[in-house]
Amino acid sequence: MSLIVQKFGGTSVADVEKIRAAARKAIRAQQQGHRVVMVVSAMGKNTDVLLKLASDVSPNPPAREMDMLVSTGEQVSVALVAMAIDALGSKAVSLTGGQIGMKTDDSFSKARIQSISTERIERLLDEGNIVVAAGFQGIDDDLNITTLGRGGSDTTAVALASVLGADACEIYTDVDGVYTTDPRLLPEARRVDVISYDEMLELASLGSGVMHNRSIEFAKKFNVPIHVRSSFSDMQGTMIVTETESQTASVCGAAMTPNEARVTVLGVPDVPGKSLQIFSAIAAQKIAVDMVVQDIGLQGRADISFTVREEDLQTTLKTLKEVLPEVGAHAVTYDDQVSKVSVVGGNMAKQTNVASTMFRALADANVNIQMITTSEIKISTLVPRSQADAALRAVHHAFTLHEKPEDAKSWDQIRSERGNRADVDALISRLQADVLEALTLTGISLTKSQARVTLHGVPDKPGIAADIFETIGEAGVFVDMIVQGYDGEDGSTSISFTIHQDAIERSLEVTHQVCKKHGMRDFQSGTDISKITVSGIGLRSHTQVGTILFKQLADLGINIEMIGTSELQVNAVVATEKVEAATERLKKAFAASLESAAG
Ligand code: ADP
Ligand code: ASP
Ligand code: MG
Repeated sequence: MSLIVQKFGGTSVADVEKIRAAARKAIRAQQQGHRVVMVVSAMGKNTDVLLKLASDVSPNPPAREMDMLVSTGEQVSVALVAMAIDALGSKAVSLTGGQIGMKTDDSFSKARIQSISTERIERLLDEGNIVVAAGFQGIDDDLNITTLGRGGSDTTAVALASVLGADACEIYTDVDGVYTTDPRLLPEARRVDVISYDEMLELASLGSGVMHNRSIEFAKKFNVPIHVRSSFSDMQGTMIVTETESQTASVCGAAMTPNEARVTVLGVPDVPGKSLQIFSAIAAQKIAVDMVVQDIGLQGRADISFTVREEDLQTTLKTLKEVLPEVGAHAVTYDDQVSKVSVVGGNMAKQTNVASTMFRALADANVNIQMITTSEIKISTLVPRSQADAALRAVHHAFTLHEKPEDAKSWDQIRSERGNRADVDALISRLQADVLEALTLTGISLTKSQARVTLHGVPDKPGIAADIFETIGEAGVFVDMIVQGYDGEDGSTSISFTIHQDAIERSLEVTHQVCKKHGMRDFQSGTDISKITVSGIGLRSHTQVGTILFKQLADLGINIEMIGTSELQVNAVVATEKVEAATERLKKAFAASLESAAG
């Protein structure tokens, strides 16, 4: 008998009528012959109400008590949903996180799932019940109640679908699928039929709130197809699966994180190991750092900038204050009025002009880009918060995301093309995973024969990045990574990019032209450099990845020249000397995480 997991978000259980409608959907599925597990969120905005109560009672509530408090929202919903099912004449049992054996680590408010025991759920299903499980919550080894982070009920649902070997995982929500960007921000956004795990993971991590990013880690690891659909209709929604919708479109979606903060550590001694001290201290707080840019400054000192979510800014600043003397840096500055606008696409790495198209769109909208970082699947820019909506709109339009790509495939087409081919294998079988949400790496690789070009004194005004990368693109040079720094000191910034070593002469010629045209200070290049790539799932949110990488390279005295991160890869650009040794060391350091995916 097939098993389906149906998850209902807050708006889908916001009132009595909606609770009944959700109950009816589950009953109908059961009557069609499925075993049904429901995962339910807190009613409406209840979690926000609870958070507000806490902040009214205490300026700094203990993390344990916060989780104790906010987990009650889900406990209310599961009981009411089970009662509604009972009133409609079917059998249901509600279970808390503890009761479904949802074991997590003890990081309150950001807990990661370690294991789930399925016996009780299976037994209740065998007895003909609909099981109604509380989303978002678990218990640690000491039986403390933990929560998985805002939006975490999606992760509960996909995790349950993974361990129960469900045939489908349906996410019922207040939109009828995944759109090319948040339809509340841009009404012209298009609903996509299909999106790949990789694309959705990256979009979710970069601000598409429709799915909790960690739920997609589960889906990809255990190959669970997810169907995101409206709880208010029976329309087919969006399938999140291995395949992309289009084979050619460079970009499948755009995302915005409105509340970002930029942090810069000024005057960091330019010796290996300093980044490690900074980032390991922040990672220990489980704070995910993004858009890391290092500018080689004057007199052997560098400025290191990065972004964090604004909600993590205070903890980040406090942590930095503690390590600053040890690091020997001059000062820390920050800007909490910035937003991150990104584009994502599974086919991006194969195409040229993607970055210049994005930068041109922003320039035409008169948006000044403060920072840029790229990876194989996304381009992120940091912009003033006041211009974030306009920036998102401009970028969405430039990639014609409102139009369906000509070669777009429907889920039915993709499914029939899969044909008899054994379904795409799961990376990990659920029986092999001893710790469900453990870091999973798929490989560590090396790309040699790379070169880097850095432009210094780039005027800090709209249109410069667009002009640079259009000119370089016209010269037929394929640019891999791009990083634009932040430089608070003289109001200019620096831009670095990598290319294949063969293209260095052409690149330098063009760089010379643009440098002159815009009156930039100078440019400098590095040949004989390599890119070390660590690939896996959920790399940005597993904060230890950066720490391990920085540590291994620092131990060998290797300086990281550029870094680019996504949820799927961390790329570090370094001098070729010693890279073989570095790769070997990294393989050893990450051995446990690499092994888990080997089976
Ligand atoms: P739930 O309570 O059901 O989990 P959420 O509010 O967490 O619902 O997620 C649904 C919301 O996500 C939508 O109402 C929409 O505004 C927002 N959203 C953000 N990005 C996207 C996107 N790319 N596609 C669809 N919805 C999105
Ligand atoms: N109720 C929690 C929240 O609002 C979890 C969820 O809805 O997914 O974040
Ligand atoms: Mg949600």
